[in-house]
Amino acid sequence: METFASLAYLIAAICFIMALRGLSHPETARNGLTYGMAGMAAAIFVTLLLPSVSSYFLIFLGIALGGTIGTIIARRIEMTALPQLVAAFHSLVGLAAVLVALAAFYNPEAYGIGAFGEIKFASLVEMALGAAIGAVTFTGSIIAWGKLQGTISGKPFIFPGQHKINAGLGLTMVALIIMLCATGHPFFLWLIILLAFALGILMIIPIGGADMPVIVSMLNSYSGWAAAGIGFTLQNNLLIITGALVGAAGAILSYIMCKGMNRSFFNVILGGFGGENAAVAGDLGDRHANMGAAEDAAYLMKNASRVIIVPGYGMAVAQAQHALREMADILKHEGVDVKYAIHPVAGRMPGHMNVLLAEASVPYDEVFELEDINRDFAQTDVVYIIGANDITNPAAKNDPTSPIYGMPVLDVEKAKTVLFVKRSMGSGYAGIDNPLFYADNTIMLLDDAKKMTEDIVKAME
Ligand code: NDP
Repeated sequence: METFASLAYLIAAICFIMALRGLSHPETARNGLTYGMAGMAAAIFVTLLLPSVSSYFLIFLGIALGGTIGTIIARRIEMTALPQLVAAFHSLVGLAAVLVALAAFYNPEAYGIGAFGEIKFASLVEMALGAAIGAVTFTGSIIAWGKLQGTISGKPFIFPGQHKINAGLGLTMVALIIMLCATGHPFFLWLIILLAFALGILMIIPIGGADMPVIVSMLNSYSGWAAAGIGFTLQNNLLIITGALVGAAGAILSYIMCKGMNRSFFNVILGGFGGENAAVAGDLGDRHANMGAAEDAAYLMKNASRVIIVPGYGMAVAQAQHALREMADILKHEGVDVKYAIHPVAGRMPGHMNVLLAEASVPYDEVFELEDINRDFAQTDVVYIIGANDITNPAAKNDPTSPIYGMPVLDVEKAKTVLFVKRSMGSGYAGIDNPLFYADNTIMLLDDAKKMTEDIVKAME
């Protein structure tokens, strides 16, 4: 039985690797998900056959409850709310790691790691690390969920001495882990968990909205390492491999995102980024913005040779992707060259725009990443920015005082005309003003993204 289980676990691990590979491109993502589901089904099936399983009732009750809740959430969830859902799920993985560590601590015989008060040294280390990472992931993910959901303000929450307090908590935790391993006393395990809960909150609360993508993927990485920690405690190789895969994938994604924002990882996790200018965002003052209507946009784009479409979060909110595709079809029919430019942090989750455009059957060869299209804006007649804001903000390039200074943005202002579709002159997720609204070659089209695009389609027809 053990050889069969090891073989099945190996196949499941390969399926998970294939799933990650598939998920790296929209065209192969569906296959990737199928591999992931097949791997998980194999893993669950084989685990149920293991002789160490003592109660099928409790397991099936858990699967039924979790499966029902998961199915209801998956059916109801809006595309725009996926990032906070992911953060909420990470918190559950973190909590599971804490609970497994506690269960193993109080009932070590069941896990074959010694007796209460005489747990093996190596197991105490694994347990302490799993519980600490799990607890940080639990509270950190709840804060990330709150910020993404809007329950907690997305602005950075900064307090005096925050870095010193966090460093102090981190060092105390290391000392407590050493004490736990030396004495095996439950007091130290509980203290580690409580401190890690506090550290999770204090680490994530100062981080501003613009850095949330990196934080969500970092917490994804933590949840993976916490799962690997559970794997060591349960002596389950598949959980160790899967946890390590998730941990490594999350860490790599965080690194890629930091590179995309031209920030160091430490700069991100030390927090306090974005939102400083929020009070003035959208306030016209003595500045002038050109306002336009659907007819102006239709005329300009129909008479252009090249149009680049820049989608952002507002397109997702308005679900404007189908109307957008219709508009692009008309333009292509008129002989206009149409491309889509995707910023790595457009929307509210990595790949958000790609998924929506794929849903509207936009051909993949018309969709370009920032580094592949940024040079083209200078030779473009019209840029159609639909529900995007931060990812186009030129302050990132030319205002050293801006909190987003240094972040790569789309060079949209280099085009002859910039059309901006949004509902107001208000700011985006980072809460900062966008000087592009007031540029001479910008025309603001203030309306819901779907309605405005449909009106443009009508005007074109
Ligand atoms: P932004 O949040 O910067 O801007 C979106 C704009 O869309 C808003 O200014 C809003 O303006 C407009 N909008 C909202 N609803 C509608 C609607 N129905 N119709 C028309 N316009 C609408 O989005 P971007 O995509 O430009 O940038 C993404 C931001 O989100 C970045 O700051 C990024 O760091 C952050 N983020 C990204 C994540 C990711 O993984 N991609 C995850 C979490 C955060 P108005 O209200 O005036 O209409």
